[in-house]
Amino acid sequence: MSTTPLRPLPSLLRHLNERRVFAAVQGAGPLSRAEIARHTGISGPTVTRAVASLLQAELFEEEAPHRQSVGRPGKLVRLARSGVCLLAVLVGPKSCEVSIGGLDGEGSVDERRSFPTPPTYEGLLSTCMETARGLLSGRSGRLLRSGVCVPGLIDGPAGRSLISPNLHQIDGRQLGMDLEEALGVETTVVQECHALCLAEQVYGLARGIDNFAMMDINEGLGLGVVHGGRLMQGCRGLAGELGHVTVDLPGQLCGCGNHGCLETVATDRALAGLVSAELGRSLSIDELVEGSRKGTIDPSAAVSRFADYLGIAIAAAINIFNPSRLFIHGRCFDVSDEVFDRVVAAAKRRSLAPSFESCEVIRARGNKRLGVIAATLRDALAMPPVEFDTPPLTVN
Ligand SMILES: [Zn+2]
Repeated sequence: MSTTPLRPLPSLLRHLNERRVFAAVQGAGPLSRAEIARHTGISGPTVTRAVASLLQAELFEEEAPHRQSVGRPGKLVRLARSGVCLLAVLVGPKSCEVSIGGLDGEGSVDERRSFPTPPTYEGLLSTCMETARGLLSGRSGRLLRSGVCVPGLIDGPAGRSLISPNLHQIDGRQLGMDLEEALGVETTVVQECHALCLAEQVYGLARGIDNFAMMDINEGLGLGVVHGGRLMQGCRGLAGELGHVTVDLPGQLCGCGNHGCLETVATDRALAGLVSAELGRSLSIDELVEGSRKGTIDPSAAVSRFADYLGIAIAAAINIFNPSRLFIHGRCFDVSDEVFDRVVAAAKRRSLAPSFESCEVIRARGNKRLGVIAATLRDALAMPPVEFDTPPLTVN
């Protein structure tokens, strides 16, 4: 008995082509259909059909050609930014941001508003909604989708926050689903470090790189690892919580309930806390950045201790995952150029030499807003359920 391999249905192939065409315009900006064909290697008629479908889905818009070209120039297509818009919500332990804009990333943000994070979930949800409605009322064009970025552990398919050690208001809540219900559009939920990985893959310095790691250092410390082009998520999507590895047994109480986690000694909050203890007054990371830049605060001693601990975290990621690049994202590096240099030097001391030598440690270029936009568009283009055209069995 022999069987013929299963063939994907034409609809699936069409969808794959649409995704490649979308990715080409997302990566390169406005392109003509002929340019898309050159970028993707897809035939002209197939590109024309995919573009028509993406125009119909309101993911693309046409714009007039503005470049000099020989012969009659073709119309350019771009990611939509006038007929439809996206809403991006960033939720953090200290502050939140709601922004609105087109589908084409950072340059498309029309407006953004920030507010201190409300202490209750109900307050958080209502302030997000109030801000979103205010932004939407001043903009023409339909809201296509929205996306929300949250810290902590998220139960993937349901988008439920399991535990957020620095933002317990959202524990057990489904912020994405609640926003979806209130806004009336599909809403993507993405974990903050995963958002940074996507931002770097789609818009930043990880384009075309299959193996890299991302360390997010803010109120908490998160790790994202991309291997073979795909985010490593673990069996339940909870991988990457390096911040809750104990490094100081009798250390400070962490938001997770343990003591001495990396998050208590190697974050923006930890650095601001060390300087605050030295000065005898409470400083935020923003105040520390400002004071250090003006020369009114000397954080050198605190930076040295902080760099040692952050170096341990980076060395752990390098030794375990052997990434070709490790991006670090944190406000702490704005305190002074010395912070990054000291952290990398500490990471080098703590890493195995061959692993460190094969890894470039670099500051992230992307941000969480871009990650939310990328995640929202990824979901808008999600693959349909895989269907196969089952060939008849042949019996010899
Ligand atoms: Zn912890």
